[in-house]
Amino acid sequence: MFKNYFFYRDKELFCENVPIKELAKEVGTPFYLYSKKAIEDKIKSYKEAFKNYPTLICYAAKSNSNLTLLKIFQKNGFGLDTVSGGEIYKGILAGFEASKIVYAGVGKTDEEIKYAINLGILSFNVESEQEVDVIDYLAGKLGKKANISIRVNPDVNPKTHPYISTGLRKSKFGIDIDEALKVYKKAVKRKNLNVLGVHCHIGSQILDISPYREAVEKVANLVFQLKKDGIELEYFDIGGGLGIKYKPEDIPPEPKDLADLILPIVKETGLKLILEPGRSLIGEAGALITQVIFTKNKKDKHFIIVDSGMNDLIRPSVYNAYHHILSVERKDKKVVADIVGPICETGDFLALDREIDDVKRGEYLAVLSAGAYGSSMSSNYNVRPRAMEILVDGDKFFIIKEREDYDYLINKELKPYCFVKDNL
Ligand SMILES: *Cc1c(COP(=O)(O)O)cnc(C)c1O
Repeated sequence: MFKNYFFYRDKELFCENVPIKELAKEVGTPFYLYSKKAIEDKIKSYKEAFKNYPTLICYAAKSNSNLTLLKIFQKNGFGLDTVSGGEIYKGILAGFEASKIVYAGVGKTDEEIKYAINLGILSFNVESEQEVDVIDYLAGKLGKKANISIRVNPDVNPKTHPYISTGLRKSKFGIDIDEALKVYKKAVKRKNLNVLGVHCHIGSQILDISPYREAVEKVANLVFQLKKDGIELEYFDIGGGLGIKYKPEDIPPEPKDLADLILPIVKETGLKLILEPGRSLIGEAGALITQVIFTKNKKDKHFIIVDSGMNDLIRPSVYNAYHHILSVERKDKKVVADIVGPICETGDFLALDREIDDVKRGEYLAVLSAGAYGSSMSSNYNVRPRAMEILVDGDKFFIIKEREDYDYLINKELKPYCFVKDNL
């Protein structure tokens, strides 16, 4: 499906020049596998599309915050889009300059805000009037100025899954666009704030890009209105959200399509552009490799039970998301099966009623397009250590996250437990 990065050579699935079966035998399963070439090609296509306009591309850390992957984006001159103190912490560790970090989120705590003010980040993307007050107050206490943009909610429908639609009036994100002018007027009077931008992010996995035009036009009108009122901004941040290929028949938009659509409008405002892509940079570059533990036939159904479940990849359970799944060794015989994990929940599946190669116990499957919102949404549910992560570069591979072990899982509980049990 992604013929340059994950493909069959004879009957064996490769990631770049690494045969996946041999790798799996060597390191064990489950693991996330990323193609460096896939990431670099996406980086190139974004840079190329926006090279003629002053643009800072901020990789959305929440899609995948592995330090090594962050480093790849940092080395390529990207900024970082964050939504928590933890993401900012990892970003700084990966070498991002604070002046290239933007920070969104409806529930920033005082601790997180102070941390980011002290670092001097490029922009807080502020999501409520109260947050304006709090950032101003905390900056004042620290004797610093904080840079802010207002996240406006343009009330457009991105035509994606409701859980990842963020730009509708009824959603919790941002400030309604017709309230924004009032909030700007208030914010520019605050002496501990630099009001330098406007931000919006309408949703994720957007395959039809026309809603971007609607959103950008609405926000541009706000920028013109602000200018009339003497409020000059520097940045126009349009968020992320470009969709990727999950099903073989999906035809996702390219960064170039987005550039052609929005740049004419952004140019009129004269503001510098910020983008915050996550999924479209890392999603197709990753696969989850898992081993078949058992197969079983019930009356009407064939089940393939694998060693990774909703704790590793929760998208099928939460969003009913489709991930294309390939057998690591291609077979001629096909079956229709539910591919399920070991977790004690009926919602624990990777695919339902899927036509798939007739794999047997001990063989391997590759769950594609798992690079974004895969490892970053994983958990230890059922006391399962989280998967290893591996980066492939040509014919070499690097372990970029070790598999968690049982010690890791009890680490933060053990001391309290020893204390409490002796005092019970
Ligand atoms: C999640 C998020 C992004 C990234 O979205 P993708 O769909 O992964 O591109 C960008 N900006 C904000 C504010 C987000 O919450």
